[in-house]
Amino acid sequence: MYAHRRSSYTNTRSLIVQFAGLALVAFSVSACMPDPVIPPTPTRTPLPDLPVTDTPTATAIIADLPPATPQPPPTTAPTGAEPMAEVTSGAPGTPTITGTPGTATSTPPPPTPDDGLPADHYWFSRPIPTGWTDYLDRTYAYGSTAGGKYRAHTGGDFYNPSSTPVVAVANATVMHAGTDWETQFGPALQFYGNLVVLQVTDNTLNGQLVYVLYGHLSEVYAQAGQIVKPGDIIGAVGATGVAIGPHLHFEVRIGDPYSYTASTRNPDLWIKPYYGFGTLAGRVVDKSGTALPQVAVTLRGAGQPRYAWTYAGAENRPDDAWGETFTYGDLPEGWYSVTTSSGSRAYTQDVYIRPGRTSWVEFVFQ
Ligand SMILES: [Zn+2]
Repeated sequence: MYAHRRSSYTNTRSLIVQFAGLALVAFSVSACMPDPVIPPTPTRTPLPDLPVTDTPTATAIIADLPPATPQPPPTTAPTGAEPMAEVTSGAPGTPTITGTPGTATSTPPPPTPDDGLPADHYWFSRPIPTGWTDYLDRTYAYGSTAGGKYRAHTGGDFYNPSSTPVVAVANATVMHAGTDWETQFGPALQFYGNLVVLQVTDNTLNGQLVYVLYGHLSEVYAQAGQIVKPGDIIGAVGATGVAIGPHLHFEVRIGDPYSYTASTRNPDLWIKPYYGFGTLAGRVVDKSGTALPQVAVTLRGAGQPRYAWTYAGAENRPDDAWGETFTYGDLPEGWYSVTTSSGSRAYTQDVYIRPGRTSWVEFVFQ
């Protein structure tokens, strides 16, 4: 009986050992198994489901480029701060009083589009096809330094995996296709890596040629001199040149296609917003009219707060029509409470984002 018990115990222990061994083997096998291959067939998301709250944070898009961590300004003005900037709206340089801050969210949208604002020039479609990340990253937007980590950005970034197709955004001629190893387009040779530069053929801006630049490509499929139309695949997302992880660096250049210091403009004002979405542009100046750099701008509307910064660099040229010093693109239509803060001062204004248009707000720091 004892022997039987002993035998039984031994057998049980043996079974446990065997089971553990099998589990270990199973674990080892599964650990050696390659990750399941997910077919590269992106989900085609219909327009109404495109991002309606906020663009994802960079951590959701790319692990090695941490998001900027703007410090949300205080919700109430600090002691000594003036409670409100001059509430200005309308065409840049010709401010008019609009809206009633604090009550705007309950009022209907403005009835008239005839607001005296400059005409928009949304000439471009998306450089990334629908189904991939076809909206601009907001943590390192045009003119931003991503919280002081990088040089002032002269373009905008679309974060996508390597090999994601990159497409023409307008009817254009391929002006340059290849590398910037011998021809300089940025702060240094080999800055954009593999790149394509298109010269827009449908239109000029005040007589100046308009170009778009696609940087850090893994592959270049276009050839210089080629004629392209919107949607034509001209390359693929990569991380060549000076890049942290794969993404498309997209620039709009006016006049001189080689000058990153004088030619770039903010893509937010050139890429057509999603249907039902609009763009906010604005300016933050001191009482002498001088633009204030790197001022935090917080937008509170539907969803999470959104953060922008006024342009940091002399190479961040305001748009020829708007004269802005910050933008935020692809905003769902509606009212937003926009707060700027600098030093001990914080000012808030309400602005209505109209679909398919750029709305304007201006802050004058006293
Ligand atoms: Zn970039």
